[in-house]
Amino acid sequence: MTDIERKRDRAAVPTDWTYAPAPESRDLVRLRERYGHFVGGGWIEPADTYATISPSTEETLATVGQGTAEDVDRAVAAARAAFANGWSSLPGSERAKYLFRIARLLQERSREFAVLESLNGGKPIKESRDVDLPLAAAHFFYYAGWADKLEYAFPNRRPAPLGVAAQIIPWNFPLLMLAWKLAPALACGNTVVLKPAETTPLTALLFCDVLRQAELPPGVVNVVTGDGRTGAALVEHDGIDKVAFTGSTEVGKSIQRQLAGTGKKLTLELGGKAANIVFDDCALDQAVEGIVNGIYFNQGHVCCAGSRLLAQESIYEPLVEKLKKRLETLRVGDPLDKNTDVGAINSKLQLERITELVEAGKEEGAEIFQPPCRLPEKGYWFAPTVFTNVAQSYRIAQEEIFGPVLSVLTFRTPEEAVEKANNTPYGLSAGVWTEKGSRILWMAQRLRAGVVWANTFNRFDPASPFGGYKESGFGREGGLHGLEPYLRFEE
Ligand code: NDP
Repeated sequence: MTDIERKRDRAAVPTDWTYAPAPESRDLVRLRERYGHFVGGGWIEPADTYATISPSTEETLATVGQGTAEDVDRAVAAARAAFANGWSSLPGSERAKYLFRIARLLQERSREFAVLESLNGGKPIKESRDVDLPLAAAHFFYYAGWADKLEYAFPNRRPAPLGVAAQIIPWNFPLLMLAWKLAPALACGNTVVLKPAETTPLTALLFCDVLRQAELPPGVVNVVTGDGRTGAALVEHDGIDKVAFTGSTEVGKSIQRQLAGTGKKLTLELGGKAANIVFDDCALDQAVEGIVNGIYFNQGHVCCAGSRLLAQESIYEPLVEKLKKRLETLRVGDPLDKNTDVGAINSKLQLERITELVEAGKEEGAEIFQPPCRLPEKGYWFAPTVFTNVAQSYRIAQEEIFGPVLSVLTFRTPEEAVEKANNTPYGLSAGVWTEKGSRILWMAQRLRAGVVWANTFNRFDPASPFGGYKESGFGREGGLHGLEPYLRFEE
C-alpha cells in the first residue's frame, strides 16, 4: 500500500452533503420606506403608490410610485431640457467620464446592489453577485469607451444623438437590463426616461443614488416606476424620439403597432424558446453543466434560456440519466444564501403561468421529473423540472415558459436538429455541443437565432451584440451594433 492509499484508507467518508446556511447580510442595504419618481435629478412625490415585495418571503420591502401620465410628462420634459441644455452637445470624452464614474461606483457598491437585486427579484445571491453586477459595470465601462469614438465607429456618416429615449425593462435582470439600455443611450448623447418592471423597481431606484454620486447632470436619466399603464403612457408620449423595449412578445407587438407611422425609432428584445443541441460526440459532463446553466440559471427567467434540449438519439439515455442526477444536487431556497442554486419565482403571476404550462405538459402526455426538494412555505417557488417524451406540437415545446422547466426532444441527424431547432416563432439564441468545429460552423449558419453558443451557454459580453430574429424582436444590444439604435446619421 502506498502512502496516499493508506491516507485515503483512514479518511472519514462523508455521509451527508447538506450545506450549512451561508446567508449574505441584508444589512448591506438600507432601504427607504417610500420612494418617489426620479425626475430632473431629484425625487418627485408620486400621486399613487404600491408596495414592492420580496418574492421569497412575500414581505413588503418599500412603497414605490405608480407613475401617471402627468409623472411621465414631467420626466419627458426634464429629459428634453437636459438634452437641449448641454448633454447632447457635450464632447464625447466628457460624456465618457460620467459613464466611467458610474461603472466604478457600481463596482464599489456591488455587494449592496447584489443583495437588493436578490431581495426584490428572488434570484440567488451568487448570480446577482457574480453575473448581474459585474456585467452591469462592464457595460458602462464598455460604452464609456465608445462615447468619444462614434465617428470612428461610423466613418463618413456623421453620427448624432436621437433625443429622448423611452426605455422599458423587464423583471428578470433589473439592473443588468438598465445597464444594457442606459449605457449606449448615454454614450451616444441621448437623455432617457426609464421604466423598471412593476415587481423589481428597487435597484433602479438605488441606482439613482449612483447617478447623483457621479454628478450626472439633472434630467439626463429619469426613472418613473409603475406597472404596464406607466409603460403605455411613456410609449404614447409625443415628446420621445425612441422606444427601447425588453419584455413579452405580446406587449412588444402592441408597441410596434402603436408606433407605426409616428417616426419614433424602435428596438424590441422579446421572448425566446432556444434549442440547446447536444451531439453524441460532445463532452457529456460538460454538456450537462451547460444544460443546467442554460435553463435553471435565474430560475429560467431568461429570454435566451435553453428551454428545449435536443439530444441526439444515440446519447439520449445516458444524457437524461446524468441530467436527472445533476438536478438532485441543485439547492433550491433562500436567494440570499450563498449556497443557493435556484431562487424564488419572481411573482405570483409568473408562478401561475409556469404552473399552467407545466399542467398542460402533463395533460398532453409528457413525462415529468422533479428532484425531491423541500420548497419553502412562504413565497413563490417552483422545483427544477424536466419533461421527457415531448412532442414538438406540445405547448411546453412551443411556448415560452420563463421558468425552471426543460423540455427534452431528440434528433438523429444534424439536418433534423436544425429543422427542429428552427421550428418556433422565436429566434433569440441556440446552443451546440459537439467536438467538431466544422459542425459548429455548419449549424451556426443554419440556425435562425441571434446568438449561437458553442460548447457553452448563457455567456454574455458587452462587446458582443445580442438580439433576435422573427418574433424575438429586432435591433441589437451590446457591441458596436448596440450604438446604432441610439443614433441618427447626417449623411
Ligand atoms: P411584459 O412584457 O408585460 O413586461 C415588460 C415590461 O413592459 C415591464 O416593465 C412592463 O411593466 C411593461 N409593460 C407592460 N405592458 C405594457 C404596455 N402596454 N406598454 C408599455 N409597457 C408595458 O412581461 P410580463 O412581466 O407580463 O411577463 C410575461 C411574459 O413575458 C413572461 O412569462 C415571459 O414569457 C415574457 N418575458 C420575456 C422577457 C424577455 O426578456 N424577453 C422579460 C419578461 C417577460 P410591468 O412590469 O408593470 O408589467
